[in-house]
Amino acid sequence: MVNELKEIARTLLEEGKVDVILAYGQGSFPFRSIPIFIEKPEGVEQMVFNPFCHHNLAKYIPQERDKRIGVVALGCTSRSLAVLLQEKQIARDLLHIIGVACPGMLDVKKLEDMVNLRKVEAIREDGDEIIVEPQGLRLNRRELLFDSCQLCPYPTPVLYDEIIGERREGVGGFPDVEEMEKLSPQEREDYLNERFALCIRCFACRLTCPSCYCKECFAESLLPRFVSHQVTMEDSRVFHLNRAMHLAGRCVSCGECLRACPLGVPMFILHRKMEKSAFELFQYTSGLDPSQPPLLNTYSPNDPDPEGE
Ligand code: SF4
Ligand code: SF4
Ligand code: SF4
Repeated sequence: MVNELKEIARTLLEEGKVDVILAYGQGSFPFRSIPIFIEKPEGVEQMVFNPFCHHNLAKYIPQERDKRIGVVALGCTSRSLAVLLQEKQIARDLLHIIGVACPGMLDVKKLEDMVNLRKVEAIREDGDEIIVEPQGLRLNRRELLFDSCQLCPYPTPVLYDEIIGERREGVGGFPDVEEMEKLSPQEREDYLNERFALCIRCFACRLTCPSCYCKECFAESLLPRFVSHQVTMEDSRVFHLNRAMHLAGRCVSCGECLRACPLGVPMFILHRKMEKSAFELFQYTSGLDPSQPPLLNTYSPNDPDPEGE
């Protein structure tokens, strides 16, 4: 697949159709990839595509908005691009979307439970198995996927100019949210407060999110001040609940916020809950149609009101 990607990227750069290609490069370990920006045709040799290319590259698009960009887009990336187009953060004619039907990405933490990563030299794929070298260990690919990839509803990009890879249907559903919904209101509050208390408000979750692009985030506003600079459970609760509201109808469940968190604080569940509510109340799924108005920019007198008024 990587050779196809290189060929497409090289042609786009050689023919002057884009100024920059946003793609994946090799990180410092066999199980790491990094986002890279390529401006010259010879630079495409740095491109990789492996089971660790999980970054949602849509994050980097608004900062390059005046350039013609070619971007490698997995299913979730394509949905984030659709959100950015809906919100007029980028122009469609400046974008060339190289869609990749995504096989799902591997969770290094799950891999770490099975193998000493310091001794790993290479990881290869063989159908439904992952082969870890030099140990020769064969592991089930599906079991090692990120939870977000196991539940991914749209692994095949919804928006693209060209597409490669084997298209496949997604899974979908909200079993994680349904588990939380079974709790009583008090149990749910305790469950969330435990998570808020872990947060140190480093904002890595916000910084990695393609839908968080405000120049000034409410969480850092001094006038008015919504959140203090102290690390308290209460302030973290204000941050996460507000962020979840800001992402209603805009989160695409890519899971980047969870992966970026240095403490593994599982606040992703709040965004999943918003996604489920948007679907149940308004039959709305984020990032499927760039021509559709954003969910929170629309109003109908017939909108459902769960509070009963
Ligand atoms: S969420 Fe879906 S599209 Fe995104 S990396 Fe996982 S499987 Fe691929
Ligand atoms: S949830 Fe994690 S990444 Fe986000 S602010 Fe808290 S500690 Fe940082
Ligand atoms: S909130 Fe998290 S899962 Fe949702 S789009 Fe942002 S980074 Fe992805």
